[in-house]
Amino acid sequence: MASEGDVDDNGGVDQLVTPWNMSISSGYILLRDPHQNKGLAFTERERDAHYLHGLLPPTISTQEQQVKKILHNLRQYQIPLQRYIAMIDLQERNEMLFYKLLIDHVEEFLPVVYTPTVGEACQKFGSIFRRPQGLYISLKDKGHVRELLNNWPERNIQVIVVTDGERILGLGDLGCQGMGIPVGKLSLYTALGGVRPSACLPITIDVGTNNQKLLDDEFYIGLKQNRARGEEYTELLEEFMCAVKRNYGEKILVQFEDFANHNAFDLLKKYRTTHLVFNDDIQGTASVVLGGLLSAIKVLGGTLSDHTFLFLGAGEAGTGIAELIALEISKKTDSSIEDARQKIWLVDSKGLVVSSRKESLQHFKLPWAHEHEPVTTLLDAVKDIKPTVLIGTSGVGRQFTQEVVEAMSSNNEKPLIMALSNPTSQSECTAEEAYTWSQGRAIFASGSPFDPVTYEDKIFVPGQANNAYIFPGFGLGLIMCGVVSVHDDLLLAASQGLASQVTDEDLAKGIIYPSFSCIRKISANIAAYVAAKAYDLGLASYNPRPEDLVKFAERCMYSPTYPNYR
Ligand code: NAD
Repeated sequence: MASEGDVDDNGGVDQLVTPWNMSISSGYILLRDPHQNKGLAFTERERDAHYLHGLLPPTISTQEQQVKKILHNLRQYQIPLQRYIAMIDLQERNEMLFYKLLIDHVEEFLPVVYTPTVGEACQKFGSIFRRPQGLYISLKDKGHVRELLNNWPERNIQVIVVTDGERILGLGDLGCQGMGIPVGKLSLYTALGGVRPSACLPITIDVGTNNQKLLDDEFYIGLKQNRARGEEYTELLEEFMCAVKRNYGEKILVQFEDFANHNAFDLLKKYRTTHLVFNDDIQGTASVVLGGLLSAIKVLGGTLSDHTFLFLGAGEAGTGIAELIALEISKKTDSSIEDARQKIWLVDSKGLVVSSRKESLQHFKLPWAHEHEPVTTLLDAVKDIKPTVLIGTSGVGRQFTQEVVEAMSSNNEKPLIMALSNPTSQSECTAEEAYTWSQGRAIFASGSPFDPVTYEDKIFVPGQANNAYIFPGFGLGLIMCGVVSVHDDLLLAASQGLASQVTDEDLAKGIIYPSFSCIRKISANIAAYVAAKAYDLGLASYNPRPEDLVKFAERCMYSPTYPNYR
C-alpha cells in the first residue's frame, strides 16, 4: 500500500518489510542454518521433533555416508578452483560436515581451502563471491568500527585473523579480495587446532588498493582508491585494535596475515606488548622452521650453536626465522642475543648483508649486518661463510644452483637445505636437485610440497615446513590457558612441541617434519608445550594448571561429529 511504503529510485512504491527470525531453530530454518544443519543425517526422532518431515527425502544417512558422497562429488572436479567453490558451498550449507571432511582428509583438502588454491580464489574473489564470509572494515567506517564488530552475529570470539590484503601469498596487492586468506586460515584453526568455528572471526581491513587491474575492474568489491598510508592508515588500525580489545577482552588473539613488510613489522612491534598478537608470516614461519632445525640436529649431531646458518632472502620470513634461531641459541648457550646472531648470515638481492651496507639497509636487516668484506653472489657467500644450513626465503626460484648445492656438499657431510619459497615454481631448488646434486647426502625441506625422490635406489622423503603445523596448535595453547601477550619463549616452546612429534623412524629416513595426517595430535602437543611454558612463566591466567596438558588440549578441541538434537 502506498501509504506504508517508500517511493523507490524508479518512482515505484517499495513496501517496507520487517526481516524476522524464530529463536529456536526448527523446520526449514534448521535446514538452512549451516551451524546446525545435518542434512539427510537428521534422525527420525529429530525429524519428528523439529518439523522436518516432508522437507527432506525419506532416506536417513550417517555422517560417514555423507562424507563418502561429498568426497565422490569433489573428486569429480578436475579444476582446483571448482573444488574450492564446492568446499565453500558445503561450509555454508553444513559446517559440521565441512569440518568432518577437512579433518578426515586433511592432506587432500588443505591445499584446496588454503594455499595454493586459495590464492586463485582471492584473485577471482569478485566473480566467485557468494555469501559474505567475515567482516569488512573500510576507511569509510572510521569512527564506527565497534558498531561493525557488533553487527557480527557471534559475541564469544577467541581468534581474529585480519589482513589488509596488501601482500596476499606471493600474489601481491589484492585489496579487499584478500578476504579468502583470513577465511581459509580460520578454517585451519578449527580443523587442525580445534578452535570452535563460532569463536573465529575473519576480518579484512580495506584501505584501498594500488592494484590498477582491480581499480579498473567494474566488478571489484573493495574501495576504488589507492591505499591510504601514514596517519590515515595508522588511525584506522588503532581504532580497530582498541575496538577488538574492548569488545572481546584482552585474551582475544589477533593474527596479522599477509600485510606488506613495512606494516607487518610495525604492527607487530606496536601491539605485541598491549595485545595478544601474532604474525604468522614472521613468527609462525620462524617457529615451524626452528621446529624442523631442532629435529634435523638430531640427525646432523651437535647443538644448534655448533651450526652456521646462511639465508637467501632477508624479508619477513628470513629475518623472523633468523631471530628465533638466535634466541634459541642464546637461551641454550646462556650467551647474548648479539653473540648468537653472529652464527647467522643473510644474503638479500644486493648480496651479503654486511656492516659496510648499514647506511642503506632497512631497519629489520640491521641486526644481521656483521663485519665482513662485501660479497655479491650466493655462491661466493657459501664458499666464504661455509654454512652448515642453507635456507631460502627470497621468493625467487632456482637460486640454489648445482654449484651452490655442490659447494654446500663439499663443506658438509650432511648439508641441510631448506628451499622455502612458494609456490613450487619459486622454490630455490627442487627436492630432486637437492638430493641429486648432493649425491643423496642432503637433508631437504621446502615450503611447497615435493614428492619423494628415488636416488640410486634409495627413496628420499622431503619435509614440508608448512606453517599449518604451528599456528593452529599455538593459538589453541594461548587460548586454553588464557595468555594475554605472546612471549618469544612461547614460540620456542611451539617449535619444541613440533620437533617432539618427529619419530626416530622418521629421523632415520632424514624426515624432519612429522606426518601431516596426525595434525590434530601434533596441534594438541604443541598447545600443551605452549601452555606449559606459559604456566612456567606466569603468563597463564586460567588456574589451576591442568595436570595433563595434552589431554586438556584434546578435550578443548572442537569436534565436528553431529550432536543429537532434543
Ligand atoms: P619478503 O618479500 O618479505 O622477503 C623477500 C626477501 O628476499 C627480501 O629481503 C628481498 O630483498 C629478497 N630477495 C628478493 N630477490 C632476491 C634475490 N634474487 N636474491 C636474494 N634475495 C632476494 O617475503 P617473505 O614473506 O620473507 O617470503 C619470502 C618467501 O618465503 C616467499 O616465497 C614465501 O612464500 C616463503 N615463505 C615460506 C614459508 C614456509 O615455508 N613455511 C613461510 C613464509 C614465507
